[in-house]
Amino acid sequence: MLSSTEIKRLALEVGFDACGVAEADALTDEEYPLRQWLAKGWNGGLGYMERNVDMRMDPRLLVPGARSVICCVSAYPPPEPGCTDGVAAYARHREYHQVVKEMLFALKARLGIEGKCCCDTVPISDKHWAARAGLGWIGRHTLLVTPQWGSWVNLGEVVTNEECDAYDKSIAGRCTDCQLCVEACPNHAIGEKMIDVRRCTAYYTTHHRRDIPPGVDAHGYTLGCDLCQLACPFNKMTVINQ
Ligand code: SF4
Ligand code: SF4
Repeated sequence: MLSSTEIKRLALEVGFDACGVAEADALTDEEYPLRQWLAKGWNGGLGYMERNVDMRMDPRLLVPGARSVICCVSAYPPPEPGCTDGVAAYARHREYHQVVKEMLFALKARLGIEGKCCCDTVPISDKHWAARAGLGWIGRHTLLVTPQWGSWVNLGEVVTNEECDAYDKSIAGRCTDCQLCVEACPNHAIGEKMIDVRRCTAYYTTHHRRDIPPGVDAHGYTLGCDLCQLACPFNKMTVINQ
């Protein structure tokens, strides 16, 4: 049986900024409206999201016998004020998949456990599991918002068959009646906790490299897009000690 306290101590030791542990079971459609998003066709050309839908909702289908999802947060610095080079903040640093994966492997080794290390490249939703593990909530712009670093965070998990002595729970979302990210999007791409990627700059500049169609205002971005994040009051409070 793993100790939750020990997992979190070791996660900080290998370089993560925060860690929570969720019990592995299925996400609900309310937590993760994947099926509704696909039904609307808002995944655009992200055809891979239509595959492994059940697995995306339930990590026990990804790792048979999974008991625990160890969720980790790595914060990154927000963009410099006035920065206008068109590159989103996450892309200004060492390739995050590599950084997060290295730390996940180190954490797994220190815990002496078997498990699958995940960071954006396997059918599990990093942000929804981080929310399940109490590390933040899903904001209207669909990203995880942490109380400490806003959404300036990269995420990764270890899905393991090991049981943990105590599991974290979701915390209440704190968007309340704020609409600032919705209003900041020049393309009206943000629906209720869903993004219509066909209208989203980040989709065209990151995931689905092709010309930005007429009617989508990239606002000068050539890699990613931070506009909805820059509007968020929780991101304005962020101080990163790096
Ligand atoms: S990343 Fe940019 S285009 Fe996409 S939803 Fe946010 S503000 Fe809109
Ligand atoms: S800008 Fe407002 S609505 Fe959007 S994620 Fe931040 S707090 Fe939530």
